[in-house]
Formats: sequence, C-alpha cells, structure tokens
Amino acid sequence: MYILVINSGSSSIKYQLFLQHSDQPVCSGLIERIGQDNGLITHEIFRADVAQTLKLEQSIKDHETGMQAMAGLLTREDIAMIDNAAQIGTIGHRVVHGGETLTKPTVITAEVKEKIMALYALAPLHNPGHIKGIEVAEKLFPAATQIAVFDTAFHQTLPERAFRYAIPDKFYLEDGIRVYGFHGISHQYVAGAAITWLKDPGAKLITIHLGNGCSMAAVSGGRCIDTSMGLTPLDGLVMGTRSGAIDPSVLLYLQQQKGYTAEQLTGLLNKQSGMLGLTGYNDMRDISRLYHENDPAAKLAYELYAYRIKKFIGAYTAALNGLDALVFTAGVGENDALTRELVCRDMEFLGINIDIAKNQLREKGLRDLTAGGGRTRILVIPTNEELAIARECRRLGAEGH
Ligand code: AMP
Repeated sequence: MYILVINSGSSSIKYQLFLQHSDQPVCSGLIERIGQDNGLITHEIFRADVAQTLKLEQSIKDHETGMQAMAGLLTREDIAMIDNAAQIGTIGHRVVHGGETLTKPTVITAEVKEKIMALYALAPLHNPGHIKGIEVAEKLFPAATQIAVFDTAFHQTLPERAFRYAIPDKFYLEDGIRVYGFHGISHQYVAGAAITWLKDPGAKLITIHLGNGCSMAAVSGGRCIDTSMGLTPLDGLVMGTRSGAIDPSVLLYLQQQKGYTAEQLTGLLNKQSGMLGLTGYNDMRDISRLYHENDPAAKLAYELYAYRIKKFIGAYTAALNGLDALVFTAGVGENDALTRELVCRDMEFLGINIDIAKNQLREKGLRDLTAGGGRTRILVIPTNEELAIARECRRLGAEGH
C-alpha cells in the first residue's frame, strides 16, 4: 500500500507518493496554473529503472482535472507507480489553518471539513484550495483514509501571554483574533531532527524557517512556546515579498493620508514588500549576487533581513531562558551562507560562533556549523514537510486512527 501526500493550493497542487513503510518517496509532482489554459504538470519518478522527469503542458480547468491527470500518471502503463487507485491506502493533506480546534493530525470527516471551511475568513488564500483538494481526493480515491495535517497545530502549545494581542478581549473571544503561527509542520520536523541529533529531549531550540515565507519558533523540550507569524503569515520576519512586522500606524497613515484601500494595503504588504520592495528582487540568489557586487540596496536589504532574525533570537533566548541550538531550514536557510553568516555575526555573548569555512560548504543532510568553542550548536537541517505528513499518516494508521 501507498501513502499519497497532497498540498493543494489555490492554483497549484504538489504531491508525493510514499510506500507505506518507507521514508523515500517513489515519485513527486507539481500541477501548476490550475484554471488556466497553459497549465503545467511536472511529474518526477525516483525509481532506479525509470528515474525521469516528465513535463506536460495542458489546460487544467480545475482541481479535479489536475488530480485526474495526477492519478492518470500514477497508473500510466509505461511509468506506472501503482496498478490502481485502491493501492493508495492513505492520503495526507497539508492544511494551513486548523484554528484552535484542529490541533493534531486528524482523519477527515464531514465535521472536520466544516471546521476547515469555518476558517476561510482567517486563511482565505489557503483553506479553500485545501478543501477542493480533499473533496476531489475523496472522489478519486474513495477507498483511501483522508488525513489532514495542520500548519498551525505545532503552535497550539503557545502560552496565552504569547498568543494573545493586547486588544480588547472580545476580538479574541468573538472573532478568534490571536497568534496562530504557520510553517508548523516544518518547525516540528526540524526541531524533532535536532532533538534526535543532540540526543537531548529537553533541548532549547530556535528553529528558523527561511523560504519564500519566513518564520521562527522557540521550542523547549519539543513544545513550541513562541513563533513569529501571527493571525496570518504576514507578521515577523522580512520575507521574499512580505514586509513582516510593521507599526500598524503605517497602514493607518497610508489609508488616511494617501487614500490606500484595504485591498491595496493587502497587496502592498503581501506582494510588493519584503526583499522585493527593498531591492526589486525576491529570490535570494539574485540579491546575493547583487550584494557581492556591492549594490547598496542589496546590502541594506540583507542587513535588515538578518537583523530582524537576530532580534528574534535575542527575544526567544530570553523566552526560553537559554539556548542549545539554532536550526536553519528551507530554501534560504539551507542554501544561503551569507544569511547564516550575517545572522550569527557578533553573537558570541550567546555562545553563537559560526565556522565560516564549514558554512560555505554545500553538503546535503544535517550539518553542524558550530565553530570550536561555540556553546550553542548552529545546525542546518533540510526540511521535508511531505515526509513529515507521510509519517503522521503512518503513525495515525498504526494507532488505528
Ligand atoms: P522555499 O520556500 O523553502 O522553497 O524557498 C524558496 C526560496 O529559497 C527562493 O525564493 C530563494 O530565495 C531561496 N533559495 C533557493 N535556493 C537558494 C540558493 N541556492 N541560495 C540562496 N537562496 C536560495
């Protein structure tokens, strides 16, 4: 039997297929531009005899068409991974927002779907796409157990002082306005790997997820006690196109003095800000090249990006009352030596001392970048949200749900 992991967004679906008892995926894929005529399916097969990547351009009118195409590829005779849909025993769905009630991986029922839908207002860009993916999966794979794994779940252990905003109670009680935090599947996965590697279940960790979206988590003994994203994935760190933390008065000023509408402000803070707003580029590879060419905007952007992370390290070390390891992960965290170096610079007082030469090496897997004498471990741990979801499916299956 197989486990299929699905990450269904508003206009794309990512998938990975695992054998029931293996951590190695047998194939993965990305279905992009759903709803457009120039849809693109990239299907990668990892079998020794037929390792290959297929790229198919076709119109993908909706999620159902996209998932049908995926099911067709999984069973296509020349590259078949499975003989029929019934061989997929479990489907694990990544769901961004589980609110306060969906706090652990859960078998999807009508009631669970209703709860995910009730959170549309809090996650308008994500939860509707997840529900589409779940409903199509139920139709195409009726024999499979459908499981939802939530990005917010890992952060549900935050104490109230960390998850509440200092505004009148009714906004929390009536509207659910509070810190939820995101990237939880990734933070939990790398924190778990760090704890195993350190052989210290009680370790005090700061996990730093730096991808297109960026967030940090303070983790004590495997439990998250604080995180940098808030009600939505906009708060906290500087990101590719998102501003991160900003004085709310900036928005009021723009609205009152410059006539910005709510929609324009949403676009400004989510799509036109962050590294893109500062440099004109949102991919760290471009900005790194410019930094090394002494471009002033790229220099400032890198410094601002790293400085914000540094401030959170200080805050979280205080919240944790100590620090055993920093863990860098995701696209930038795993690959960008410059970011790691700037973040760790002038942090000896916290026992953070990075080995500059090791930091430059491009190695796969878990890496320890701690210089001799460094009291705090500096780790790079590649994240793997799909594997984390597959493992949760396996665990729930073993528990007989
Ligand atoms: P993710 O969201 O984890 O897929 O991360 C995507 C981002 O990682 C990209 O937008 C890049 O900014 C960054 N990235 C990926 N590869 C590299 C690299 N080799 N060096 C620097 N940044 C990278």
